[in-house]
Amino acid sequence: MAYEKLTPPKTGQAITLNADHSLNVPDHPILPFIEGDGCGADIWRAAQPVFDAAVQKVFGGKKSITWFEIYAGEKALGVYGANAWLPQDTLQAIRDYKVAIKGPLATPVGGGIRSINVALRQELDLYACVRPVRWFDGVPSPVKAPQDLDVVIYRENTEDIYLGVEWQEGSQEAKDVIEYLNNGPCKKLGKTLRKDSGIGIKPISIMGSKRLARAAIVYALQNKLPSVTFVHKGNIMKFTEGAFSAWAYEMGKAEFGDRTITEAEVVEKHNGQAPAGKVVLKDRIADSMFQQVLLRPTEYSVIATTNLNGDYLSDACAAQVGGLGLAPGANIGDQAAIFEATHGTAPKYAGQNKINPGSVILSGCMMFRHMGWGEVANRIENALAEAISAKTVTYDLERQMSGATLVSCSGFGEAIIRHLA
Ligand code: NAP
Repeated sequence: MAYEKLTPPKTGQAITLNADHSLNVPDHPILPFIEGDGCGADIWRAAQPVFDAAVQKVFGGKKSITWFEIYAGEKALGVYGANAWLPQDTLQAIRDYKVAIKGPLATPVGGGIRSINVALRQELDLYACVRPVRWFDGVPSPVKAPQDLDVVIYRENTEDIYLGVEWQEGSQEAKDVIEYLNNGPCKKLGKTLRKDSGIGIKPISIMGSKRLARAAIVYALQNKLPSVTFVHKGNIMKFTEGAFSAWAYEMGKAEFGDRTITEAEVVEKHNGQAPAGKVVLKDRIADSMFQQVLLRPTEYSVIATTNLNGDYLSDACAAQVGGLGLAPGANIGDQAAIFEATHGTAPKYAGQNKINPGSVILSGCMMFRHMGWGEVANRIENALAEAISAKTVTYDLERQMSGATLVSCSGFGEAIIRHLA
């Protein structure tokens, strides 16, 4: 583990991987963290004491975390120099230590790197973006029954239009592609692209689709959840979105045929009642799914979808249960995982100790479950729920709740620590 500028902690050990990608977690794991830009320092200052206090409560000192700061975004520029938004050290440390947590990162303006977050996911092949969405009692929501939505969204993270294969209108590449499609071997398609078009490519692969759907089905099986829904826009984009759904079903049947059943089979062979113990595989068109989560939320538990659909759907679902300030997320691959606040850097609140740290704290809960420290996660989640029930909340919730006590970002962390059982 040789780094250009990082000095790993002298105490603690690295998490290691088994051949089946499961983790060996030592009693004193070293966990790299990226504080993040903007409000990142505020939420990290509130969150880390919550993590340490919960680990101490559960294990009484027998286990602990050694935090290891690594850099990305604006802080990395100060350490590594101009344009070093995502240093190789940072990628290497995440590869070496397997599990990391991060705050939000600003998208650099003016070329160089398109998005640090997207680069992290692609460089480390973190192919599943996992976003659980549930309501916490008392959180103001725009819908009548926010408690009915309790889903985990698996969003494919490494392909689709997000891959960044696109050319600006007027560029030679855009002209060449347009010429090829209009007048080359594809002419027989009979489609004419306008010459003043920008061009983007939407690749969806068998491998990418199947491994994402596999992760979603494994999650449903491990957590005894009733269904996995493949969300796609295959009625229009047949060979990308439609193929995603077809490959997901194909993999589900081939690899989990004894433990899954399709919705069509439930209707045709079981009178609409899924046999006990089987995970139902179903699919929905993406636009309809936005209605479904509002109108029939109880019919969904795990959702697996392509990159862009997942981006929209996960933020819409988060809004339904009360907003981004409390929405956790993770980017998980076979070799490493990064847990992250799902909101942005909220620059107007940076340094004010004001923003809601709930998103990064709940992302930490996902991280503890991933490490097999589920009891730590349960304690933090319960304490956070109690802090909200007691109406000790940050500005974003306070402004929508009557009779609430406004607390700062760090004050909310302290409230959670007080409620840790
Ligand atoms: P944003 O930072 O998420 O903030 C938009 C608004 O959402 C805030 O003004 C605030 O609303 C609310 N909000 C966000 N986080 C909150 C929290 N923890 N607690 C309470 N309210 C919260 O979105 P943005 O302004 O569009 O993006 C700013 C930068 O962040 C951009 O550079 C963007 O690229 C980047 N970004 C990074 C990530 C990531 O790293 N994962 C994700 C998204 C965006 P009110 O003003 O109403 O209080």
